[in-house]
Amino acid sequence: MKQHAEIAGAGFAGLTAACALAQRGWSVRVHERGQRLRTTGAGIYIYENGLRVLAAVGAYEEAVKGAPFAHTREVRDDRNRVISVHRWQGSRVFSIVRQTVINALAAAATRAGAEILTGSVATGASADGELVLADGRKLKADLVIGADGSNSAVRDAVGLLAKRKYLVDGATRLLIAKTEQERLAAADGATTVEYWSGTRRVLYTPCSERDIYIALTMLDRDEIAKATPVRTDAWKAWFPHLEPLIERIGDEGRYDRFDLIKLSRWSAGRVAIIGDAAHALPPNIGQGGGCAMMNALSLAVYLERNVDVPAALAAWEMNERPITEHAQRMSYLLGLPATWPPFLQAMALGWAGRSQWVIRQRTKTALHHPTGT
Ligand SMILES: Cc1cc2nc3c(=O)[nH]c(=O)nc-3n(C[C@H](O)[C@H](O)[C@H](O)COP(=O)(O)OP(=O)(O)OC[C@H]3O[C@@H](n4cnc5c(N)ncnc54)[C@H](O)[C@@H]3O)c2cc1C
Repeated sequence: MKQHAEIAGAGFAGLTAACALAQRGWSVRVHERGQRLRTTGAGIYIYENGLRVLAAVGAYEEAVKGAPFAHTREVRDDRNRVISVHRWQGSRVFSIVRQTVINALAAAATRAGAEILTGSVATGASADGELVLADGRKLKADLVIGADGSNSAVRDAVGLLAKRKYLVDGATRLLIAKTEQERLAAADGATTVEYWSGTRRVLYTPCSERDIYIALTMLDRDEIAKATPVRTDAWKAWFPHLEPLIERIGDEGRYDRFDLIKLSRWSAGRVAIIGDAAHALPPNIGQGGGCAMMNALSLAVYLERNVDVPAALAAWEMNERPITEHAQRMSYLLGLPATWPPFLQAMALGWAGRSQWVIRQRTKTALHHPTGT
């Protein structure tokens, strides 16, 4: 008999799990609370590990279409001097419009036979394999997946949250249209630039034939810097050398505070938690989505190896959790200089950019070969 999965959340985690399970013969239903499959956050970097997962679930070609290979990353100080340069050689990283990836995953999931319901809100779950919806229905399944983001109702219903730490910083993300010059420069991939000025940062990332992804990071208590629509007057004063770029920012933009989530366990009985719901991390190494997709695919692989669902979930967590925890640690540590005095900050960022040990630790998750790829 076909095994059945009910999944809460149609983001990177939920849709990847839907593809991977449906491709392995499961019947799958995904519940997305939004009326449409819409993602927030403008752009995203997807590194070798995430790209391998996209390929394994049949979404790679559509996801990276038109996205530049982000081969070089520069870090610059408040006087626009280059502090460090990292070149991705021998592995891939694309900067992509988020919606393109979500659309590609949703199309792959539907092709594999998964059903995706929008406007369907999960409010809880029980460890014996029941998903509770806001309309009062209780749906039985062999496996319930909580992929409903950092405020996960499924996770909280089965009491797995061990720690949620709100960090001191956050980001406003948006897309701006490329200029003619930027469109012409796109042929050989993209250089992304991280400009620092004290506790504030502007991240410039070409992410499609038409779009530039801008992320502005700041301390959460910095009310002017985190205001939306973006206070371009203030940002121009903090980054005078970026005035022509900042002037292009319109009324769009969404602010999110960073957080770090750890669970006591990634599953309870027949309920598994994946993605930000299980392990949200700050974006300093761009691995939240990558880990979400890796863990979603590996979950399906472990369930294929062992028909006993709770036993498969225990093996999955034991083998897969360490690389995600490494990503969380590195991401957290690399965010610390944001609050340091400019001199120390420039020293730390320069050292982090040169030290082979730091580079190995920072890129370890990106270069990891995910289970199932
Ligand atoms: C500033 C910033 C930059 C980032 N940059 C990168 C990057 O470059 N690379 C990278 O890999 N990661 C990055 N991340 C992290 C990445 O965005 C997340 O890790 C990723 O979105 C997690 O995917 P998810 O599917 O777990 O959760 P989400 O993307 O949050 O998706 C959850 C889905 O569940 C739905 N949902 C929520 N509650 C319910 C409910 N009760 N019922 C039904 N549906 C529900 C939501 O509507 C949503 O569609 C960044 C994060 C931030 C904040």
